Amino acid sequence: MQLDTRNLSPLVSHLNPAQREAVTAPPEHRLVLAGAGSGKTRVLTHRVAWLIAAEGVSPMSILAVTFTNKAASEMRGRIEQLIEVPIRAMWVGTFHGIAHRMLRLHWKEAGLPQSFQILDADDQLRVVRRVLKGLDLADDQWPPKMVAGWINTQKEEARRAEHLSGEGDFTQQQLVRIYSAYEQTCERQGVVDFAELLLRAYELTRDNADIQAHYRRRLRHILVDEFQDTNALQYRWLKVLAGDTGTLFAVGDDDQSVYSWRGARVENMINLSRDFIGCEIVRLEQNYRSTGTILNAANGLIARNSARLGKKLWTEIGEGEPIQLYAAFNEYDEAEFVANRIKEHIDGACAYTDIAVLYRMGAQSRVLEETLIRARIPYRIYGGLRFFERQEIKDALAYLRLLHNRDDDVSFERAVNTPTRGIGATTVERLRVLARQRGLSMWAAARDGGAALGRSAGKVQDFLKLIDSIAQTTQELSLSKTTEQVIERSGLRGHYQKEGREQAETRLENLDELINAARSFELQQLQDAPADPDVEGLSEPELDPLTAFLARAALESGEEQAGPGEDCVQLMTLHAAKGLEFPIVFMVGLENGLFPHIRSVDEGNLEEERRLCYVGITRARKRLYMSYAETRRVHGVEQIGMPSQFLKEIPPECIVETRPRAHTLRPAFAARGYGGGSGGSRYSAGVPAAPPARTAMPASMRQTSGPNGLRLGQRVRHERFGEGTVLQFDGDGDRTRVEVRFEKGGSKWLMLSYANLLPV
Ligand code: ATP
Ligand code: MG
Repeated sequence: MQLDTRNLSPLVSHLNPAQREAVTAPPEHRLVLAGAGSGKTRVLTHRVAWLIAAEGVSPMSILAVTFTNKAASEMRGRIEQLIEVPIRAMWVGTFHGIAHRMLRLHWKEAGLPQSFQILDADDQLRVVRRVLKGLDLADDQWPPKMVAGWINTQKEEARRAEHLSGEGDFTQQQLVRIYSAYEQTCERQGVVDFAELLLRAYELTRDNADIQAHYRRRLRHILVDEFQDTNALQYRWLKVLAGDTGTLFAVGDDDQSVYSWRGARVENMINLSRDFIGCEIVRLEQNYRSTGTILNAANGLIARNSARLGKKLWTEIGEGEPIQLYAAFNEYDEAEFVANRIKEHIDGACAYTDIAVLYRMGAQSRVLEETLIRARIPYRIYGGLRFFERQEIKDALAYLRLLHNRDDDVSFERAVNTPTRGIGATTVERLRVLARQRGLSMWAAARDGGAALGRSAGKVQDFLKLIDSIAQTTQELSLSKTTEQVIERSGLRGHYQKEGREQAETRLENLDELINAARSFELQQLQDAPADPDVEGLSEPELDPLTAFLARAALESGEEQAGPGEDCVQLMTLHAAKGLEFPIVFMVGLENGLFPHIRSVDEGNLEEERRLCYVGITRARKRLYMSYAETRRVHGVEQIGMPSQFLKEIPPECIVETRPRAHTLRPAFAARGYGGGSGGSRYSAGVPAAPPARTAMPASMRQTSGPNGLRLGQRVRHERFGEGTVLQFDGDGDRTRVEVRFEKGGSKWLMLSYANLLPV
């Protein structure tokens, strides 16, 4: 049937010809392979709208996979806007979210208890630790993190312990033994880790013929965003779901594959045309996001990578402003630079939400936060500091989980002596042994344990009674009221009130925030209640609010933080920034060792780091700032930073330095002839070093020059410590102190009036 596209014009009129072709293509397999900002996500969203509005496809036949839950809700919103019809019945979410949904619907067939709980990465480590103990294996020989990583890798390859037994060398055999014990423990407790969610859902659709037929009949159209970061198991699952009848519409960019460390396989893009017969590749080449300068910088950088599928990107937006590079003195100076520039932009009528600060490591956020708070700049950490991972929140959640499932050993262990109830490590260990010997959960072992628990038996019984009693009295209560009761009656509130002042305040605030979260979750659930029953008789899983809330806490921790509607600067890691865009972007910490990260370089993953840098640069629409710090405290140790090699790899005409600095600090950099676009390098010897601008430091470090004519960055000699560089001043008059980084012996604070420092 020839479609009359005139009435559908809003759906395709804002698309270029290549995008339009992809959106309106007949239902066959497609791979949209294109660079950053070329409209891949836009094409995917429009494709869904097109299928529904133009092809008459039921929203129920569509499965759309996005990279985060936030992206999923944005996509749903955009599609609803485009077609002006609510699409609640459509499955849109992350791979994990969708797997979870399927397992909730088919828990029985998947071999899970109805009340199964999700273990997050932290919980998983605890279970691994316990399993190691049970097998009498030492933690230092079998680091739990390594073991958990190995288990996850096996799961990602769809390998169960039983498939592996008898294989490999001694180490491998031990690992298989641990894996097997781990599987049994999880099974007994009714818990699943993240990798297990996917594996179970995969096995369910692969092995259960009825369920497979049902989903193949139902999910005719599968669309996947950020396809370059799918792992092996996700790929297999897609193959099973699509079968011979479903169609796959994948969009991705091999240059943005940044999760190989979590099992992502960029080869999946290449395999598509082999496994999904007839899969055509569509290329988009026009970038609609960034200025020419930003795009040139990104293109120049990524061209250094060898393993690429290769693509072109161009823009009509115009050249725009050059990228500004700031050589900060240290991380505080860097943060101050960011804060100052943010203020300038805000004065220029830009909103805080237009601005993002991106960094390589989560820990870099602390100094930025400190500085932004001082500068009264509102900010949010997006996807970083995970609310649901905070100690007090996990404590409260452990109680909630126990109410729900008494056999959840991880929660039992956490709650049993938090707050302290005189149930010591020995008793807990006894319970563990008892549970293991009898093949019971710790709860059941505690219940039946009796005298075996020694002197603490009474206290353990009291704990069981407490949980049962909370469960009973909260049975009829709402989720938020239950949460409130749990926090009170468990004694957690009282426990944290007793902590040191500042700490206690934050923790209590967080606990209150948990009640708030529960309340807004209840409201949201009411709104989301599906209006129409599923026509095929498979209604949405009817989850009680507590189960749904706990699942959400495990699946979505942290994502919610970038509060919708609130005007604030967004702070996030480069990984978390994938797929997003902002008018103004700061990329901080561009130092060798930090970015590219030393570990990745050591592991031969420089190209992935470069892709991460490419992701960062291409988040910027109009303005991009980059900075590095000459010294930075890492794990409490002052380190000297060399500018990231990526800075050299960006075409020099794209960058200008924003501020001249003392040339003495960066001789190595100057020697390479690196320089800004206007007027060459200001580092070069011979160019008079202008005094560094003031205001770069936090209060205690605000001075840039001290008495005796010494300046920041100046080389000095000390009688005993030898030569060094002035890092910062503190105090004034006679009490002026100076921090000097000596070549031998690290940095030291000295009283300036006694130090007798001589300029070199
Ligand atoms: P990334 O690789 O970073 O995920 P992407 O390829 O998914 O990027 P989008 O986020 O879909 O790109 O689009 C980038 C920007 O360009 C968005 O603001 C989008 O609205 C805009 N855009 C895309 N196509 C067009 C178009 N044809 N006309 C106008 N704007 C467009
Ligand atoms: Mg995208």
